[in-house]
Amino acid sequence: MRLIICHCNGLINIPDLDLGPDVKIERYDDLCKQEVKIDPGEKVVIGGCSPSLMEGLFPDADVEFVNLKDHIFLMNHSVEKAQSLLKATIEKSKSGMGLKKKIFTIRSKSTAVIGSGVAGLDLTNALTKAGRKIYLIEKEPFLGGTVAKLDRLYPEGTPWSHTVLPLISSVVKNRNVEIFTNTEIMEIKGELGDYKIQLKNKPRGVVDCNNCGACVAVCPITVQDNGRIRKAIYTINTYPYIYAIDFNSCNKCGECVKVCPKKIDLNEIEKIIEINTGTIAVATGLKFYDLEKVEEYGYGKYPNVMNVLEFERKITDGSFAPRNVVLICCAGSRDNNHLPYCSRICCFLALKEAKLVTDRYPETRVFVCAMDMRSYGNFEYFYATLRERGVSFIKGKPSEVMQRDGNLVVRVEDLYTNELLEIDADAVVLSGGFVPDKETFDKLGVKIDGNFPVIFESGKLGNIEMPRGIFVAGSASFPAGVFETIVDARKSAFSIFSLLQNDTIESSQPIVYVNEDYCSVCKTCISVCPYNAITIENDKIKIHPDLCMGCGICASACPAAASRLEKFTVREISDWVKTTTKPGDIIAFLCKWSAYNATETAAYMKVQYPENIKILRVPCSGAVEPNHIIQALNLGARGVLIGGCYPDACHYVKGNFKARTREKILKETIELLGLSRDRVRLEWIGKDEAKKFESIIKEMNKG
Ligand code: SF4
Ligand code: SF4
Repeated sequence: MRLIICHCNGLINIPDLDLGPDVKIERYDDLCKQEVKIDPGEKVVIGGCSPSLMEGLFPDADVEFVNLKDHIFLMNHSVEKAQSLLKATIEKSKSGMGLKKKIFTIRSKSTAVIGSGVAGLDLTNALTKAGRKIYLIEKEPFLGGTVAKLDRLYPEGTPWSHTVLPLISSVVKNRNVEIFTNTEIMEIKGELGDYKIQLKNKPRGVVDCNNCGACVAVCPITVQDNGRIRKAIYTINTYPYIYAIDFNSCNKCGECVKVCPKKIDLNEIEKIIEINTGTIAVATGLKFYDLEKVEEYGYGKYPNVMNVLEFERKITDGSFAPRNVVLICCAGSRDNNHLPYCSRICCFLALKEAKLVTDRYPETRVFVCAMDMRSYGNFEYFYATLRERGVSFIKGKPSEVMQRDGNLVVRVEDLYTNELLEIDADAVVLSGGFVPDKETFDKLGVKIDGNFPVIFESGKLGNIEMPRGIFVAGSASFPAGVFETIVDARKSAFSIFSLLQNDTIESSQPIVYVNEDYCSVCKTCISVCPYNAITIENDKIKIHPDLCMGCGICASACPAAASRLEKFTVREISDWVKTTTKPGDIIAFLCKWSAYNATETAAYMKVQYPENIKILRVPCSGAVEPNHIIQALNLGARGVLIGGCYPDACHYVKGNFKARTREKILKETIELLGLSRDRVRLEWIGKDEAKKFESIIKEMNKG
């Protein structure tokens, strides 16, 4: 194997080392400026500067790094310590299982776009212009999503048809787009480059329609559809240009068939269709939070308490002309009993509805109740315009909506005047929070917690935003206005296009492998993996290489040591600990995304920590195994430090919490071994917290 030492232009000075005949030593003054070739399968240790800087120079090679610059020479620590770390890293590398290249074949160059709102349509349009085949899947009978139910777009206020209808026309006439309306995703199988998606095409009940509307006139069933009344057979002004039957409401009385026997089929059956795609784009938009849960506002109890969509549709179809309207912002948002987060667009939506009603009915009194109004950028003009129109803004969140003498009454304390107000209203509009379409993410096997923003890991394969070639566009990831949605859709279109340009995708990121001889199929690894990267197939554990992010959390949790992370196996870490640990040392396992960076910051800030610390860069604090901690203590280490990301900042979702749980059990174990529990510490250390790192090490030396 090779040991490459970079002298960092004279800063690093390592005398000759005797590492045995199987280690070839090379030296460079400035490695980062040299063309150094590393062959596939070759094992190399590089002693030089920061691995965060150096690993990008050798992206596919099996290289281990020793940070001589930051951890030894800028710290004024001894050459003996440097030699110990180099030897330990060489031993680690020697016992390593090697780093395999993973190759994903892009068998299908097409994309499934789920959802046909602004994001889905724009993304489809952009990709088809680049010559790509798209399957556009919409669960409703018509294209357009929620936006097609609106009168005007958020937040600009232009009619939705200005933006959406041209997109629909463009998509519909493009031969590269296959459109499935009234269609649900049943099952998704496969991996990046080769997905098999099973679709359920629900019966529409109407074929080859000429839009005469005779059926609507005879249909006896009326349906409340987000503030509008329609029949069980209906159409909207998008695509396809034919009617559809809402079979959830239809009682199959047959009246429509009598007036149109050739085109209506009440007994049509669903079809199961299978498509094959290389990538998937989730453009399912957002869902309204269930406002009935906000019991104090009477949604679902009082007919004139409505959400913004229902209000907008009632106002614009002319069926409702209110005299006093109260709009309530943050209904069910920024509230620990409901959605703890701000849904970002609800203040704007309230302003948009206030403008819409005062456009149509200038005499209507409008009150907007908000804890604080959030309208960024130029959209502040909404607020100014509405004040000029006489809209009253009340700082405060109403405590209750009740009914008195047939009228609605809103109780709110105005925090500016400290007055308790009771406002009579004939309409109360709740501008509530939003949640993501969790059902679709579940079908995709992507874990989300049901809140916005939808958080997932980025980029193990370059421009892929989610593992597996699955992309999220528009409000499916976070509530957004139309402009932002289009920007986001184009960004995803670009990433998908770039990905599909390749016939294969290669990755050398470490992943885990399971040794079947040791594995008892206890499923512990499945329960801890944050990415659903582990399943069972034919009664055996299967790791999905396109999903595994290499966090190592499963490997450290495996009771049988069957699960092994490349470059971080039990044997490798054990050899590193065994070779370098001396009595009195502090052994530090530091997460490469946070605590390890603090040691680099310490070097540049000249924050000197004691020499007796030996640092191993680990993928995640959750990847550190208890055995290695006990091994270090048995070898005489004064203490063991595990450094991880702060809560909610873990690069691997909740790896740091796994470390926290393990720390508690470990402390009890070492106490049983007769050792002080304080000899093991788990600390959250941010990348710039050099001083915190220094003080922890000093404290550990005192204890
Ligand atoms: S935790 Fe280990 S033993 Fe259990 S199923 Fe996973 S790999 Fe197998
Ligand atoms: S290493 Fe992490 S991402 Fe990969 S399978 Fe294990 S727990 Fe899942």
